[in-house]
Amino acid sequence: MRYFQSAQDVFATLLTHYEFGGPKPWFDPALFGTDPILQRIPAEVKRRGEWIQVLAKETGGWCFLSPAEYTLYRFCHGSSLSAVNRRWPAAHPSALQEFVVRLYWLGLLAVNGRHFFDPATFAESPVTQAGPFFIVVLSERCNLACRYCFADARLHTARPLEWPAAQRMVDLIINYPARDLTLEFTGGEPLLELDLLLRVASYARRQAARCGKGLRLLLQTNGTLLTAKRLKRLNALGFSISLSLDGDASTNDLTRHFPNGHGSYSATRRAIELMRSEQVDFGLICVVSRINSAKLLTLLDHFAAIGLPSVKFNPVFKLGRARGRWQELALTPEEYLNWHQRYLAYVVSREAPVIDENLYHILRNMGQRMHSYRCMRSQCGAGREFFTFTPTGAVYPCDRFREYEDLCLGNLAEIDDLKDLGLTHPLLKRIAQRRPALIDDCAACSYQRFCEAGCSLDSWFDSHSATTPHPWCSYYRGIYTLLLELLAEDMGLLGKLYPAAHIYSKSLFND
Ligand code: SF4
Ligand code: SF4
Repeated sequence: MRYFQSAQDVFATLLTHYEFGGPKPWFDPALFGTDPILQRIPAEVKRRGEWIQVLAKETGGWCFLSPAEYTLYRFCHGSSLSAVNRRWPAAHPSALQEFVVRLYWLGLLAVNGRHFFDPATFAESPVTQAGPFFIVVLSERCNLACRYCFADARLHTARPLEWPAAQRMVDLIINYPARDLTLEFTGGEPLLELDLLLRVASYARRQAARCGKGLRLLLQTNGTLLTAKRLKRLNALGFSISLSLDGDASTNDLTRHFPNGHGSYSATRRAIELMRSEQVDFGLICVVSRINSAKLLTLLDHFAAIGLPSVKFNPVFKLGRARGRWQELALTPEEYLNWHQRYLAYVVSREAPVIDENLYHILRNMGQRMHSYRCMRSQCGAGREFFTFTPTGAVYPCDRFREYEDLCLGNLAEIDDLKDLGLTHPLLKRIAQRRPALIDDCAACSYQRFCEAGCSLDSWFDSHSATTPHPWCSYYRGIYTLLLELLAEDMGLLGKLYPAAHIYSKSLFND
């Protein structure tokens, strides 16, 4: 039997009191009795090379079984444990008990009618631990004019958020009923408003300390305005910084450039070297568009050469200037799947590949029922525990949809409480009911617990319906299938992409 489980699967750990990767599971007679009746939970069965994949769509539990284990598993349906033992005396009783317990935990087997995952658990929403997240756009101004961005490159026109509104915003955020809060500053280019940025962040730090709350401060910047002095001031406030780069100089400068057409590569590289010399950890986002997608290997080799072990590769979003250039920039879901296919071939061929952080999250969704990444799922918390504040003081559920006026949740001046604000908004309320079980294709889909029907807002703005699959459904189906195929061939792939996974691989009949 083979599968992987996330070492951080808090949800499963809570239910089992067992930490994955910890001691051997225990067949608890108080829970199971001494000779329980076993029952298979309906699952899709697929041959994957020498393995047989068993995947239960309602629980998201899956594993690979050897043909002999699969025959035994099939026999489990309605049989008692002792009957299985009599039929397969070659399986040692303790190994058989462990096999049964693991299938039970994975949500593939019921024991005495008892299910490890109550199917109702996932009915209302996915099980999550992402926590509240607040995005602040202090100003739409930017010193770059990237081809796909929605920030305003006219440096002197757009007005930043005014201090009284910023103060009110911080108070609302700090009063949000949670112990730990995350505040991300994005833009426009936040460093154009450095004084305001530092003032807001310092105030947030003070207020959080006063209320005994944890506060994580993130900064998304193009890096071109970063200096040693500025970095020092940001460090003093405990900012985590993420930069943007779309590849090597010739590739990056095709999409990320100054308004006069000059590329931004050398300025961003300077910021990378500065962070290094100051020993500051940082993240990196690379936007994948039609312009740089063909140069995948050059891109990855370049990131490896400049010492970046992981990069968040985001497909270009249909926002701002990208709308008018959609044909020139956008990849179809099939093309993005093909991009990931090529990426995975690169991973297989390299000892230490550059990790795609989005693929890491996709794998994590396969390895744990607790979704710990806020995005890529229906009921992501947008408008309830995830908010975006714009320079005019308008509040939106998600920064990706801050161009959609009909999603505005109100203005800072008139909002008293952020908690569940989205539940009072007619459109969000409607979309909030979107669950895989209500969408025919998703209800029948084997990957429904991994995918959770994708982003609800994307789906709504694509089809104006809360009961259609995500517009990138073919990508999701494709990537999960591809990963399962590759994992059946070689679980070693996980070690390269998702080192936190705990791989279980043991044969029932060899023990
Ligand atoms: S609304 Fe969509 S894009 Fe925004 S956080 Fe939720 S899932 Fe992600
Ligand atoms: S959007 Fe597609 S892949 Fe995702 S659950 Fe629905 S049918 Fe499955």
